[in-house]
Amino acid sequence: MQTILIIGGGHAGAQAAASLRAEGYDGRLALISAESELPYHRPPLSKAFIKTADEELQELRPAQFYEKNGIDLHLGRTVTAIDRDAGRVVLDDGALDFDALVLATGARVRVPPVPGIDLGNVFMLRTAEDARRLRARLAVAEDVVVVGGGFIGLELAATARLLGKTVTVLEAAPRLMGRVVAPQISAFFLDMHRGLGSSMRLETPVAAILGEDGVAVAVETQAGLRIPADTVIVGVGVVPNIEVAAEAGLDVANGIVVNEAMRTSDPRIVAAGDAVSFQHWALGRAVRLESVQNAVDQAKAASATLLGRPEPYRAVPWFWSDQGAFKLQMVGLSNDADRSVTRGKAEDGSFSVFHYRGETLVAIDSVNRAADHMLGRRLLASALSPDPDKVADESFDLKSLIAKSA
Ligand code: FAD
Repeated sequence: MQTILIIGGGHAGAQAAASLRAEGYDGRLALISAESELPYHRPPLSKAFIKTADEELQELRPAQFYEKNGIDLHLGRTVTAIDRDAGRVVLDDGALDFDALVLATGARVRVPPVPGIDLGNVFMLRTAEDARRLRARLAVAEDVVVVGGGFIGLELAATARLLGKTVTVLEAAPRLMGRVVAPQISAFFLDMHRGLGSSMRLETPVAAILGEDGVAVAVETQAGLRIPADTVIVGVGVVPNIEVAAEAGLDVANGIVVNEAMRTSDPRIVAAGDAVSFQHWALGRAVRLESVQNAVDQAKAASATLLGRPEPYRAVPWFWSDQGAFKLQMVGLSNDADRSVTRGKAEDGSFSVFHYRGETLVAIDSVNRAADHMLGRRLLASALSPDPDKVADESFDLKSLIAKSA
């Protein structure tokens, strides 16, 4: 193989570059990223980076890593087309030939069709550039309205509140983070944010952002309530970057469609990360996951496939979110669960919800309980399903189950 190109310099793209080299690929290797920074950790953008004026971006790997490993970086450049017949990608300012491709194009913020979304002082967060602008604004903001009670909106709401701002969160659904976590977890975080002094409004869809002289001054709800705002943060999810793949004739659905070894409908092209739709081995349907773990592990699988060592992707998904003083950690997918049992007490600020489908443990959501989360990863990886009664009994040592199975 002569040349592998990686499109996208996020978690998946950077991991693919590292894995290809680590696994012995010694041909030409280049990574093309629309962002001008070296690949960096994205999660801190809504966490440490936004809180502290002098916090730096955390690079995934230092510049020397790419030099030492012969990985050509094309930063600040965008792939506009893939010519599969010619084996060439077209860039905004040139073209590069390939023998194989890794698509790691990730996702971008979903821009809701709300009047006023283009006003000044309306922010959305995906990139380092977005985070720098938002951080500068938060230093002087007073009244912050957050549209969307998902992970990123809530992380930013907690930070803004702890910085002393007036904060209102508007969520259209009846509970926070409703797509992903258990109702008990939503309720816990609702109380937590209220305890910080934020105004939390559920079932409150937004009608418009109102402006004066081109700058946001209030958010109007569909019920006609006007909430004054000098800063509006909109966090209502993302859309996968699939256009270049679709225009090249690859199969796409709610993501670039891959098989279990991360191969697209063209055998020379693999894909990984937020942009990818794959058939989930346990759920039995196509999913698209948005997490660092998924991006990194899929990139490893995709690289192995390109090097002729395909393995089915079976990693247990996990994710985290930091809100105020609380760390929420999730492992597994709870979407199809039909019952749950709680270990610990929400009142103590440290508890886990274990989700079952029938007798099978499928996911665990933990609040300030890292040990349960780590154990959960091992239980799910080993397909172990502890008896729910034992899980609810804190005197029972769950670790003993792992020891027994080892
Ligand atoms: P991305 O990181 O989106 O990278 C894709 C890259 O491809 C981008 O640089 C993009 O510019 C580039 N690109 C796209 N199209 C082209 C093109 N045509 N040409 C050139 N370049 C292109 N996950 C967690 O697990 N835990 C967290 O706590 C967490 N917090 C988060 C906080 C924030 C603020 C954000 C935005 C995300 C967070 N995530 C978190 C999600 C996590 O960051 C993503 O799942 C992860 O970044 C996905 O990696 P990726 O490489 O697939 O995509």
